[in-house]
Amino acid sequence: AKERQDGEPALYDPSMHSSLVERLALEAELRKAIADHHLQVHYQPTYVLETGDLVGVEALVRWPHAERGMVRPDLFIPIAEQTGLIHEIGRFVLREACFQGNEWARLAPSVPLSIGVNVSGKQLQRRDFADEVSEALAESGLPADQLVLEMTESVLMNDTDSTMATLKSLKAMGVRVAIDDFGTGYSSLSYLHRFPVDILKIDRSFVDRLSGVDAEDSLVQSIVQLGHTLQLETIAEGIEEHSQLQALRRLGCTMAQGYHFGRPGPADTVSKLVVEASA
Ligand code: C2E
Ligand code: CA
Ligand code: CA
Ligand code: CA
Repeated sequence: AKERQDGEPALYDPSMHSSLVERLALEAELRKAIADHHLQVHYQPTYVLETGDLVGVEALVRWPHAERGMVRPDLFIPIAEQTGLIHEIGRFVLREACFQGNEWARLAPSVPLSIGVNVSGKQLQRRDFADEVSEALAESGLPADQLVLEMTESVLMNDTDSTMATLKSLKAMGVRVAIDDFGTGYSSLSYLHRFPVDILKIDRSFVDRLSGVDAEDSLVQSIVQLGHTLQLETIAEGIEEHSQLQALRRLGCTMAQGYHFGRPGPADTVSKLVVEASA
């Protein structure tokens, strides 16, 4: 809120009022969209940098809205986290992605795709989260080692005993864990050692900087080296240009995702890629 000269909060701030009303409206509409089964899942492909082989997809939730158009997850995920709606949304995306992943596995058994699903800290804090994952795998038939749960560093820094217990159960099932947006949070080596992590997803902001002249001398290089040292896969996010792709190859990054390869799209678009890859 705005502050007056004397340090007291202003009594009335119209911009705050409108954003609060806007927020409440969005929350009500989100509740209705969930109840009416209007949310969808799109998928963005991931590739092996060296060979160009399709290796996986990331599931990304979509909210098609009659008046607002496609509402961005960046806008409604925070609201969902604050209101608890994230549990329903997360469960929906997880199940949808597992069932879809198993369908692709049947369509093209020779192309086993990793299915990345974003997990919010609120979900991970729930004691029954590992059971939810286990049920989604059992009911869909997707092999556990094809599921990758993506979580940010801050989620892992909420280092509670229950978070650790949940991660251990997931690990025991064979599910893999990726650190999302790696490098943007409070990166510390200690938690990478402490937690059973398999993959580092290098944030797009670092990949963006690879466009410049001193591309080799970059943070990406340090992250890729860290990945090698800890024997973790590294996925570069948000590759838009061929020059970034070349730089990442030189740096030894293992996998890649971005508009340069393909935008997120409905499951059908990935089915075509899967069929092509198996031909
Ligand atoms: P994220 O997990 O980092 O997902 C990557 C975002 O980058 C996606 O945005 C994707 O569309 C976008 N992206 C991919 N390649 C490129 C590129 O080359 N250039 C640019 N400019 N962008 C690219 P999206 O789908 O809008 O999702 C935004 C964020 O919302 C995600 O960031 C994630 O944090 C969150 N989110 C999305 N779906 C879910 C979900 O099912 N559950 C949870 N908890 N969060 C989700
Ligand atoms: Ca992600
Ligand atoms: Ca990310
Ligand atoms: Ca993000």
